[in-house]
Amino acid sequence: MTPGTLFLVSTPIGHLEDFSLRAINCLKSCQGIACEDTRVTQKLLNRYAITQKLVSYRDANEKQKALELLKYLQNGETWALVSDAGTPLINDPGFCLVRACKENNIPVVPIPGPCALIAALSASGLPVHRFLFEGFLPPRSHGRQAFFKAHASATYTVIAYESCHRIQAALQDLIATLGPDRVICVARELTKCHESILTGPAGSIAPQVVARGEVVILIAPEGF
Ligand code: SAM
Repeated sequence: MTPGTLFLVSTPIGHLEDFSLRAINCLKSCQGIACEDTRVTQKLLNRYAITQKLVSYRDANEKQKALELLKYLQNGETWALVSDAGTPLINDPGFCLVRACKENNIPVVPIPGPCALIAALSASGLPVHRFLFEGFLPPRSHGRQAFFKAHASATYTVIAYESCHRIQAALQDLIATLGPDRVICVARELTKCHESILTGPAGSIAPQVVARGEVVILIAPEGF
């Protein structure tokens, strides 16, 4: 039996038109779509008139679902994996499934597209050639301060995701550890109608940041 293929399909991070023709065609033609929240993905499918079977694949059920999906793939089916927004696996579920495919010689094909960290980096005005992505910032002040201290002498741009509820506290921790002159970028609500991308010294950016929506924080290399 020839195995099927797992497609990793990136989806919009806000603007629903940021969805490639190849992604749409893949979702239309595959045998099923594994997604995080079926209601979120259903909205995207409705926008593009895609009728397709959705199976929930979340952090909580990832290991067990990976085995189920592996069986379908081994039986020659083609499946797509999407997350609620952006690129699957990037701070989203999918690692177990991709590992299982690799271990069982099942082709894994990316269909690239939106990714919040890349969109933020490209428009930040900070150095782009070398960067470190750290996922979500630690949730507590102590952890965040340790994080900022660890990256104080970075010679590359450091990127992290943060919740809007904690962005002000995170910026205060950043200023307390790296100082108000460290250049940062706060990219909020990318591709949405209230998109804001603020770049400058942390001390002047922090008061302008609205604690709403989705946020990427970028820290310039020391001395930039
Ligand atoms: N897989 C996604 C990607 O490719 O970017 C990331 C998923 S992660 C669970 C969600 C986090 O990504 C949010 O908390 C926020 O930090 C960031 N994010 C997602 N969409 C965003 C947007 N439109 N603007 C700014 N940040 C965004």
